[in-house]
Amino acid sequence: GGELAFENVIFGYDPDRQILNGLSLRVPPGKTLAVVGPSGAGKSTIARLLYRFYDVTGGRITIDGQDLRDVTQSSLRAQIGIVPQDTVLFNDSIGYNIGYGREGASQAEIEDAARGAQIHNFIAAQPKQYETQVGERGLKLSGGEKQRVAIARTLLKNPPILILDEATSALDSRTEAEILDTLDEVSKARTTIVIAHRLSTVVDADEIVVLDAGRVAEQGTHAELLAKN
Ligand code: ADP
Ligand code: ADP
Repeated sequence: GGELAFENVIFGYDPDRQILNGLSLRVPPGKTLAVVGPSGAGKSTIARLLYRFYDVTGGRITIDGQDLRDVTQSSLRAQIGIVPQDTVLFNDSIGYNIGYGREGASQAEIEDAARGAQIHNFIAAQPKQYETQVGERGLKLSGGEKQRVAIARTLLKNPPILILDEATSALDSRTEAEILDTLDEVSKARTTIVIAHRLSTVVDADEIVVLDAGRVAEQGTHAELLAKN
């Protein structure tokens, strides 16, 4: 499962200003669609609509053919995982931050998720450092390390649908490359929407959509888009 579709979606935050103007997208199960485009094009709005922070004003969004408005909030949260651009952590342990909201998770599952996000390779190799407090008076995590905590959170949740909302945009290019490697693994068997502002970070996407003023301006593989421009 996990097929996603936007069908002629119309949406504006204010009634007199449309942000998405009849947007249609389809992501087959397990595939990756990248959405790129200039700032203000409506990319993050796509993520907010998928999570139902807002509802569409026209058209519809479906998961496995079911209208999003007919999916319960708890089912939606179980099906969709988001790695945002900036991850805000609690002043608590890395383990707590990974497991937050998943009270049923065991320590072993949390450690597995931490390994999947390769946290141990990057955070100084003290034993059980994920039990150490992070934040102002504890361990200071870099932007990339924080993103790894967000990735571990997603791995623990194991959602069939993944949204990477500018997940590496705030990182320096070397850290970005490292995190992209990990995200490649994480997105492999999931239906994924990657929101990015640079084409160079979405080379491996099955399909890329260039969004402009809430519409698909161009669509194709990385190679096809390079050949056109
Ligand atoms: P992108 O992610 O492509 O940079 P966004 O989807 O964040 O673009 O925003 C698209 C447009 O919607 C922008 O013009 C932005 O100013 C506007 N916008 C975003 N969030 C809100 C909001 N909560 N209320 C009103 N306008 C918003
Ligand atoms: P879980 O069910 O795994 O606990 P949540 O529903 O709590 O997942 O969502 C994970 C986090 O991502 C929450 O803190 C939520 O506010 C945040 N989030 C959800 N959508 C977005 C988004 N579009 N951009 C940034 N953060 C988001």
